[in-house]
Amino acid sequence: MAERPPTTPRPDTVAAIATAPGRGGIGVVRVSGRRLLPLAQALTGKAPPPRAATLAGFRAGDGEVIDTGLLLYFPAPHSFTGEDVLELHGHGGTVVLQMLLARCLDLGARLAEPGEFTRRAFLNGKLDLAQAEAVIDLIDASTTAAARSAARSLQGEFSREIRALLDQLVELRALVEATLDFPDEEIDFLEAADAFGRLERLRAKMTTVAERAKQGRLLQGGLHVVLAGQPNVGKSSLLNGLAGDELAIVTPVAGTTRDVVRGTLQVEGIPLHVIDTAGLRETRDEIERIGIARTWSEIEKADVVVLLVDARQGVGEADAAILAQLPPGPARITVHNKIDLAGKPPERRDDADGATIFLSAKSGDGIDLLQRELLRIAGWHPTEHVFIARERHLRALAETLGHLESASAHLAQLELFAEELRMAQGSLGAITGEFSADDLLGEIFGRFCIGK
Ligand code: GDP
Repeated sequence: MAERPPTTPRPDTVAAIATAPGRGGIGVVRVSGRRLLPLAQALTGKAPPPRAATLAGFRAGDGEVIDTGLLLYFPAPHSFTGEDVLELHGHGGTVVLQMLLARCLDLGARLAEPGEFTRRAFLNGKLDLAQAEAVIDLIDASTTAAARSAARSLQGEFSREIRALLDQLVELRALVEATLDFPDEEIDFLEAADAFGRLERLRAKMTTVAERAKQGRLLQGGLHVVLAGQPNVGKSSLLNGLAGDELAIVTPVAGTTRDVVRGTLQVEGIPLHVIDTAGLRETRDEIERIGIARTWSEIEKADVVVLLVDARQGVGEADAAILAQLPPGPARITVHNKIDLAGKPPERRDDADGATIFLSAKSGDGIDLLQRELLRIAGWHPTEHVFIARERHLRALAETLGHLESASAHLAQLELFAEELRMAQGSLGAITGEFSADDLLGEIFGRFCIGK
């Protein structure tokens, strides 16, 4: 084994391959820790200048060059993690990157855990929790609108809004807490300071932010759509029609087989994850069975079931049988396709168990009606500056609003009023991580891949 340099970095130096597995022009190994200059020197024989690309040979323990590439050195605190960071830009081959990584481990680093770089950025105050979540949301974005709003959250737009609300809440709390010390004059004092007006304005602003976050949650999670219908009824044609001029981004769900899951397309930037029940057939094939079981668990999460029938025949027995197997929870849309052959106009009707839409997947007539219906079910309405948000954020915002509502119901009981405001601050602060428990952090960063 190679001899360690005299100044072995502290054991909290971590390293990982930061680029996706597979072949590529360039692959990046990232290292983060304290005092990484000695590691850079042992690796390349050079002391790289800060924040500049240096062409260097990355050397193995025996001095032989593993790869030649660019070395970047970001001294603390001006780096992504807030620690010293080294980036080794080598050639993007699996083996060569593994060799570079192994060399870094030999030089005293340990393999980073999933999300550890971003976690360090959070712990060192470079990002707050909402921004850290936006990192993975940007990576996972399945539409351009989702990517844009994740980038917005990553730059701190969402966090700034939350912090502005927190500031106002803290101000109000200070006012109320101070009043608690002067019980005789409390009501006059609060009235003079317009405490109740402040509370109402805060609630109104909070409601607006919650609404934008709700839209962001849609962009992040999208709508899960189950597409049911007999063979040849036009399911593939409808998928193409729905994707329209926009690029249909097909992202087969990992592990599913035999085209059971069709993929993701987008309508106005909202990802539609479409699962085709055509793949749900009786089978003896074990692998296919596993795929089908996965599909069923996806179907359990569905928001909408779209049943496609031929407009010339309407809903038949076989269609009813398919519907009977699907969970009762999701919204239902019945689509009568091929109206061009049936000689019917495009139309939307309200039925007892959902909307019915007449369209032609081939000519495109009526597809806008279906798109609108899907967006309506999703609860989407075009809003400026949507920031990506998660269920966790929505829950925290709803909790905060709940406490503010209770506060305004307890105006006459100042101690309860104060307590509700205190709890509101706790809920709101959890979004940016000001008051987050360790287990929550574990849950958030555990979802990252190694190297992020
Ligand atoms: P799937 O098996 O349900 O996926 O059905 P396809 O999308 O493959 O369509 C079956 C056939 O019906 C194809 O030949 C399509 O061109 C045709 N088709 C689909 N939608 C329409 C439509 O709205 N009008 C007409 N005239 N033909 C259609």
